[in-house]
Amino acid sequence: MKRVFGFFLSLFILIASLALFPGTGIEVYASGKSYNIVIDPGHGGEGDKNLGAQYNGLSEKELTLKVAKALKSELEKYDNVNVYLTRDTDRLISLEDRAKYAKSVDADFVYSIHFNASAAHEFYGSEVWTSAFGTYYQAGYDFGQIMAGEWSALGLYQKGTKSKIGKQGLDYYGIIRHCVARDIPCVILEHAYLDHGYDVPKVKGADFLKKLGVADATAIAKYFRLTSSKTGADYSGYTYASAAKPSSKVYQDDTDPEICNIKILATDPSSGNILVDMAAIDGQSPIIYFSYSYDGGNTYSLLQMWDRSKSEQSFNVKVPSGTVDPVIVCKCFNNFEKFTISNAVPVQESFSY
Ligand SMILES: [Zn+2]
Repeated sequence: MKRVFGFFLSLFILIASLALFPGTGIEVYASGKSYNIVIDPGHGGEGDKNLGAQYNGLSEKELTLKVAKALKSELEKYDNVNVYLTRDTDRLISLEDRAKYAKSVDADFVYSIHFNASAAHEFYGSEVWTSAFGTYYQAGYDFGQIMAGEWSALGLYQKGTKSKIGKQGLDYYGIIRHCVARDIPCVILEHAYLDHGYDVPKVKGADFLKKLGVADATAIAKYFRLTSSKTGADYSGYTYASAAKPSSKVYQDDTDPEICNIKILATDPSSGNILVDMAAIDGQSPIIYFSYSYDGGNTYSLLQMWDRSKSEQSFNVKVPSGTVDPVIVCKCFNNFEKFTISNAVPVQESFSY
């Protein structure tokens, strides 16, 4: 009886471990295996063929190479890991050739290094793009959760880990699509925005690119549970909550947040402060930013950070003196940058600003 129980117990433990690590498989975590990690510095090439984002004296193709080199030298401090770069000079290389190179070195994971920019220069923060498919989604999502913790510690706002499907029903982003076609998990790491005042001073800060490289390497070390006999770092017992393997493609959120409702809680004519309460809800993806207007929606504030653990919060809107008939309107944005405009609430006429 005892022996039978023991057998079922071991079977249960085996099944439980499979359930915990269904995507990458148990063998990934077996000791003694060495990992082949490919770092892909985004863009590159002489002239202006593939510069990436260019703002505020910052050039994406140069920044990606600097971060990639810092990442490589940090990651190489760990045991049982071989680190490869798809380019280590300023040269043009297609997305497919990057994936082919990764396959040629039998890559376990490809990390494509990027910096961001937006058309209206309104967004800031870091984000991770992963494949929309099964275990590739799962691997990228799990890594993205770990990565967000490291980037957060550097003061970067976190937009989350996402996937996006293109017109052909495959992954929208080429590097991810070409890697997945070769059975290699791949994520795009969008570190920060080069066109926003919240991120630019950080990116230009002393040693920040090196710090990003170290943050990326640390996230990779934690994901693969690496140890370093050089530095004493030991992530062999590192645990994280793994995402469930999705049973179908994980599409982007193409719809605006469902709810964005405001009300005025209090007004203080002496300071011009209006205390506004906003309820913001999106069933598919988190609300991550909001902005406010006191002139009925003609002009809006810079994007503010929304506490994504809440569906309702309040904040002060300062109305400058001399504003005639202020009307409060707000916007809430989900992490796919889709937004909804709230109801408009006139500030009581009895107050003059
Ligand atoms: Zn890029």
